[in-house]
Amino acid sequence: MRILILGAGFAGLELSTRLSEEFGDDVDVTLIDQSDAFVFGFSKLDVMFGRTVPNAARHPYADTVKPGVTFVQATIASIDPVAKHVETDAGAFDGDILVVALGADLDPQHTPGLVEGGNEFYTVSGAFELRDVLAEFERGRVIVGVISTPFKCPPAPSETALLMHDLLTERGTRDSSEISLVMPFGRPIPPSPAASEALLGAFAERGITWCPQTAVTGLDPDRRVALVGDGGEMPYDLFLAVPHHVAPAVVLESGMTVDGWIPVDPLTLETSHPDVYACGDVAAVGTPRAGVFAEGHAKVVADHIAARIRNETTDSRYGGRGICYLEFGRDQVALVDVTFFGDQKVGKLVGPSPDLVRDKVEFGSSRIKRWFDKDWASIHA
Ligand SMILES: Cc1cc2nc3c(=O)[nH]c(=O)nc-3n(C[C@H](O)[C@H](O)[C@H](O)COP(=O)(O)OP(=O)(O)OC[C@H]3O[C@@H](n4cnc5c(N)ncnc54)[C@H](O)[C@@H]3O)c2cc1C
Repeated sequence: MRILILGAGFAGLELSTRLSEEFGDDVDVTLIDQSDAFVFGFSKLDVMFGRTVPNAARHPYADTVKPGVTFVQATIASIDPVAKHVETDAGAFDGDILVVALGADLDPQHTPGLVEGGNEFYTVSGAFELRDVLAEFERGRVIVGVISTPFKCPPAPSETALLMHDLLTERGTRDSSEISLVMPFGRPIPPSPAASEALLGAFAERGITWCPQTAVTGLDPDRRVALVGDGGEMPYDLFLAVPHHVAPAVVLESGMTVDGWIPVDPLTLETSHPDVYACGDVAAVGTPRAGVFAEGHAKVVADHIAARIRNETTDSRYGGRGICYLEFGRDQVALVDVTFFGDQKVGKLVGPSPDLVRDKVEFGSSRIKRWFDKDWASIHA
């Protein structure tokens, strides 16, 4: 049985690893991605704030040698979910089972003036470029702005505001700077009231201006003002954007989407096409767009594919649980444990505390060990 996995992000790497662990050379997995390396979302913040170097944050796919898995670096140009056939710039591929795990793309052009007048920190290139921008930024008015929802990693904009506070404090220019966090909804982490409360306390303590229910409709690059709400303006020297998110164009063109994302059975990740699954950020599952949830989706898809290979059935169902780490700056990390399905929809918050810094490192290093067979310590030596 040929298994075609489109996208080698959190979901694709976890799925291919699980299938390889279970079947070794007896499985025929082709894993396709346009990039030559995987980068954790949180590593983008680490690079941008000078806490690590770009090379340590990039994990080359050439290093994944998994029995039964062939990695192909190629850009997927079309997907036929009926024939389970894809066209790429490295040729055509057919599968008996197709898994679409192509993530969410960013569309900075969606917001007038953003490309010319702002910086986004959600793509690898955007975040890595910001490393130099922040290194040279001495003081001024900083806006962290979320353009629209859904967006990946609900904590990331708040983390960015807090890390910006630390950076300017270390530089001795915090008192002559302003930091504002602008979002089109009511609390910093919409799915977690407990984490939101803790963040609002941290913002108040650090003098970060919290602007809820505020839509950024555009930037005026010449006047360096953000256009907000109905005719309001916010001046800025540095605008750090979470751009509008969209499914990759190839997914939109495949006809698989409804309201912009691929609908799936949230418990099994099956699409409406037989033997075609979608998981991770590209799928409309009802959980936030985050790596931990993408990984959870992949586990269920792996169980279903394994059962299919063995001609068995499985009762493996996705439970909607995710444990996310939340940077508070000042070397403090909190943990948000949320379950979205079933009775318990609101999760708990642990920390922030310095002890959880180690747990977050363990989160990253354990994935790198499993997916790439690499030691975190040697990468960051
Ligand atoms: C700043 C930031 C911080 C974050 N922090 C965290 C965190 O602390 N914890 C957490 O759990 N999540 C975090 N996230 C979110 C996390 O990165 C994503 O939710 C996660 O990567 C989604 O996994 P995925 O497999 O669905 O998609 P992705 O990991 O985005 O993978 C999709 C893959 O598809 C490939 N692809 C897309 N289109 C094509 C094409 N046409 N042809 C070939 N390949 C293609 C891409 O190259 C990519 O490798 C963060 C995100 C950001 C931006």
